[in-house]
Amino acid sequence: ASVKSERSLVSLSGSNSTDSSGPPRADSLDAHGNHADARWPRQNSLSMKEWDIPYDELKLFETIGTGRFGTVYRGSWHGAVAVKLLHVHSLSDHGVPLDTFKHEVATFRKTRHENLVLFMGACMKPPRLAIVTSLCKGMTLYTHIHIRKDKFNANRSVIIAQQISQGMGYLHARGIIHKDLKTKNIFLENGKVVITDFGLFSVTKLCFGNNARGDSLGIPPGWLCYLAAELVRALRPHASLHLPFSKATDVYAFGTVWYELLCGEYPFKGQPPEAIIWQVGKGVKQSLANMQASRDIKDILMLCWSYRASERPDFPSLLITLQKLPRKRLARSPSHPVHLSRSADS
Ligand code: ADP
Ligand code: MG
Repeated sequence: ASVKSERSLVSLSGSNSTDSSGPPRADSLDAHGNHADARWPRQNSLSMKEWDIPYDELKLFETIGTGRFGTVYRGSWHGAVAVKLLHVHSLSDHGVPLDTFKHEVATFRKTRHENLVLFMGACMKPPRLAIVTSLCKGMTLYTHIHIRKDKFNANRSVIIAQQISQGMGYLHARGIIHKDLKTKNIFLENGKVVITDFGLFSVTKLCFGNNARGDSLGIPPGWLCYLAAELVRALRPHASLHLPFSKATDVYAFGTVWYELLCGEYPFKGQPPEAIIWQVGKGVKQSLANMQASRDIKDILMLCWSYRASERPDFPSLLITLQKLPRKRLARSPSHPVHLSRSADS
C-alpha cells in the first residue's frame, strides 16, 4: 500500500476499549444517531447529566484552530473556556457511534490533576457535540519548539518532562490511555505543563477513514514519529482497525516529546513516511550520534523507544529516573529557584 502524507485518512471504527470502567457500549443507534438512554446503567446516566452543558449556555467567540473533525473555539461558560465542537455529521457518516463520544467524555470527566487540562463538561445532544475545558494560556510545546525555535536547556527539559510524567502517571493510574500525546497537546503556562486531549482519539482523529482513496494510507504530518512499532505495524489503509494503543505506546510517544525538547526537531526529520514506517516497524531508531546530551539522557530515550512494549519503563519509574538526573549547576540567585523562566512562556 502506498502512503500519502496528507491529513490522516486512517480509519478506525469499532470499539475503544481502553477504559473498562466507562459506560458499557451499545452499538445500535436510532435513525437520528441518538442513543437509547435505557441501555445505560442508571448510575451512569445520572452522573453523565452532571457534566451535560446545554449548548445554549455556551458563548462561542473566535476559532482557535480547526481539525478535520472538530473546531476549537475560545468561548465563555462561567468564565473563559475552550470549546471543541465536533462535526457530528462527519462522526456518524464515518461510523463513529455517539456512544464512543459519550464513553470518551466519561473517561475525561474522571480526571483531576495539576498537569491535566480541566474538563468542565460536554454538550451531548446531537447535532451539538462539544467538549468544554479550561482555556489554556501560554503556548504549546510544539509552538515553542518548532515555530518559535525556543531552546530548552537540559534542566528545563527535565522539569518539563517530570511534569509530563506526573500527569501521564496519573492518567495511567486511572486506567486512561492518552493515545495522542504530542507536543501539540502539551501547553506551557508560566512554566507549568498542561496536557490536553487525552482519551479522545477515536472521536477526533481516526474517524475519517472513509476519505481514504484506493489503498493509500493518509498520515497527518508529525503524527508518525509518535507511533510505537506495534502501532506502525498495525496501520492499514481502509481497514476498520483498532490500533493497539496501550500505556506503553504512550511512553513511546513521551520518548518523542523528550527528543523534541532536547533536539528542537522531530526524529526522522525530513524522511518520507514510507521510510519512517519501514524503520520503526523493523526496530530502527533515530540515531543519537549527533546529539549533545549525557548518556543518562540518551538512555531514557532509548528505553522509551524500545521495540518491545514490555521493555519500556512506566511513568512512575521515568519520573524517578528524571529526578535522579544530575542537574547542571546554573549561576542563579537564591531567589530564582530552578524553574522555567517566563521568557519561554509569554
Ligand atoms: P491539535 O492538537 O492537533 O493542534 P486540536 O483540534 O486539538 O488540534 O486543537 C486545535 C487548536 O486549538 C490548536 O491550536 C490548539 O493548540 C488549540 N487548543 C486546543 N485545546 C485548547 C485549550 N484547552 N486551550 C487553548 N487552546 C486550545
Ligand atoms: Mg489537541
